[in-house]
Amino acid sequence: MRGVLLCEGRRCSSAGCRCRRGELHGPYTYLAVYADGRSRTIYVPQAARALVEQHVAGTQRNEALLSEIAQINLELLLRRALG
Ligand SMILES: [Zn+2]
Repeated sequence: MRGVLLCEGRRCSSAGCRCRRGELHGPYTYLAVYADGRSRTIYVPQAARALVEQHVAGTQRNEALLSEIAQINLELLLRRALG
């Protein structure tokens, strides 16, 4: 799962609520994702948080490995082309 986990407090729509005086509700967890040319922020329910964290961390590891492999392949190609 690609994205960035955010933890934020929110204001509600009631005019007299304590959140209007700066005591925000939450904090709640959100997943910020960039897809189809735009970014979205998706609410992550408390019960799903650990699972989403695992998937986000797994994707970050995979992408770091893929970028390392791509770099190695580029170096091998350059060596072949120049050698
Ligand atoms: Zn409120």
